[in-house]
Amino acid sequence: MTGSSFLGIFFPDERATTVEDVDYQKLIDSGIKAVIFDLDNTIARWGDERLAEEIIDLFERLTSMGLKVGILSNSRNEVIEDFVIDLPFPHLFNANKPSRKGFRSILEELDVSPQEAAMIGDQLLTDVLGANRLNMFTVRVEPIDPEMEYRFTKLNRIGEKTLLFLREVYRFLRRIKEAACWNNNL
Ligand SMILES: [Mg+2]
Repeated sequence: MTGSSFLGIFFPDERATTVEDVDYQKLIDSGIKAVIFDLDNTIARWGDERLAEEIIDLFERLTSMGLKVGILSNSRNEVIEDFVIDLPFPHLFNANKPSRKGFRSILEELDVSPQEAAMIGDQLLTDVLGANRLNMFTVRVEPIDPEMEYRFTKLNRIGEKTLLFLREVYRFLRRIKEAACWNNNL
């Protein structure tokens, strides 16, 4: 995780537009052995009943690159879970992110340490925060369809905006402090 400020735990190490845009070779080169994906708005639209072919193709490509792939979701959608169950990728639904319990359980299933895993998701307050709490590498992607979200997620988005605002305030205050120190050193 990035630790540049006290808010660092809420922010990802990297950002990408979609899961297709993540530089997976770079992750491998930095020692990552497993990639864990959020489901809703990261690899599926909210309410989808199955994963798109492109996502399964991506997972197969990652597997052939030597990465383990897992899915960690707060979703309770049993229809898509029934679809995911038949895929050869470990998954955990109803994971209660940002609780560390679900992260630990999928890491154990993938047989990797937190430092060997990257979490890829669209939400700062669940995917990024939970993974950062365990010191995993974090990648935030843009939500596939920001208009279609679970009500609780909409609340989280307000939290995200507040965090971004706080970070800007913090950076501003730090700049003032640096300027003051610089003046003192003259
Ligand atoms: Mg999501």
